[in-house]
Amino acid sequence: MKTIQAYRYALDLTPSQDRYVLAHAGAARVAHNWALARVKAVMGQRAAERTYGVPDERLTPSLSWSLAGLRRAWNAAKPGTAPWWPEVSKEAFNTGLDALARALKNWADSRNGKRAGRPVGFPRFKSRRRTTPSVRFTTGAIRVEPGRIHVVLPRLGRLKLHESARKLARRLEAGTARILSATVRRDGGRWHVSFTVEVDRVERTPARTASVVGVDVGIKHLAVLSTGELVDNPRHFVTAQARLRALGRALSRKTGPDRRTGQRPSKRWERAAARLGTAHARVANLRRDGLHKLTTRLAREYGTVVVEDLNVTGMLANRRLARHIADAGFAEIRRQLAYKTQWNGGRLLVADRWYPSSKTCSGCGAVKTKLALREREYECETCGLVINRDRNASLNLAALAAEFDTAGSGPVAGRGADQRTRVRGQVAAKRQPGTAQAGQTGTVPPQGGTADRVFTKAH
Ligand SMILES: [Zn+2]
Repeated sequence: MKTIQAYRYALDLTPSQDRYVLAHAGAARVAHNWALARVKAVMGQRAAERTYGVPDERLTPSLSWSLAGLRRAWNAAKPGTAPWWPEVSKEAFNTGLDALARALKNWADSRNGKRAGRPVGFPRFKSRRRTTPSVRFTTGAIRVEPGRIHVVLPRLGRLKLHESARKLARRLEAGTARILSATVRRDGGRWHVSFTVEVDRVERTPARTASVVGVDVGIKHLAVLSTGELVDNPRHFVTAQARLRALGRALSRKTGPDRRTGQRPSKRWERAAARLGTAHARVANLRRDGLHKLTTRLAREYGTVVVEDLNVTGMLANRRLARHIADAGFAEIRRQLAYKTQWNGGRLLVADRWYPSSKTCSGCGAVKTKLALREREYECETCGLVINRDRNASLNLAALAAEFDTAGSGPVAGRGADQRTRVRGQVAAKRQPGTAQAGQTGTVPPQGGTADRVFTKAH
């Protein structure tokens, strides 16, 4: 199975290498901003000409927005705009122009309705201060040195890694991997190199092919499995918060930049900002590590993993929950499970967003109309089952896999499973004894207050 994968390593750069990589990242920004200014100028010119009634064929010719077109324009202009251009690799300019070409395409597609999701804004100029320095190499000598602690990149030469690249090197030596590109980027105050690699992966099967696990992603725990296992939430963010707050306060006391007055930041402000950035990066690293360990384990062991489709954007709007949800990285768990189950020969089922996994009784299938978030125990009024709320939800998710298989149609996406669950929910609601009593009068009680009362009677 051929997959595209990234291998990312921290770098230990010497001060002169550091400056040279920064110069490349700066060159990428210069090319990006120059081309963006050109695009804007031409657009403005054409719009103005149209208002004067200039016919379309006599307008200023439009600039090609493709990478090739932007590159042609840049190459023609660079001796004048950037006479220092031979000092850096042409890949640096390519990085900036490529980013702009993509941004313009995304904006155009979003405007014409060809792109789903949020509307994409028009590209903006990259500022020196706020942009993450990055440069990408797609051609030339990109390799890992035999000692596995150095990499060679075009123009930058031999760079020392902070850790051994043995996993990637082994694959390269065995001929099961091919490097497509290398990106050098500074995040969290540290340089990293990330290789985009085409990897030929061995076909695998999960340890227990026929087994199913339901995963309820929670706030109290990182995840609750239908096997009964509680995976603790790595609350690194919460524990690190005191430190983050202190660093944030320290930063706010120092003289920062001010665009209105043109105030430059003080050296102390810059150092404090770097410390805060490092603290944030550490939290992110710890969290990513926890998530990867969990998703790898699940994908290797179980044939089928079932998760909920959480509306993460909607939940983030709820400010009180927001921090914790962001902390647990809901969306990230699902993203990782999607590709890891594929790598391991398993499958991922995603339940419908409206599937009442928390409100359904995993014992008898009855559905509650209401379940407050603070109710940590699920108590079934119909069969008397008392179970941990999250455990109950994970059992319901696991049960979905069986339903999906008996339904046996459609691709292994959520859709088929969703439909089934909705039908089951309705059927189960009618089966409740309380509802049956009410049904004697010939009317189905409306959802809400009435149903609640019926439930209490049934007790
Ligand atoms: Zn029940």
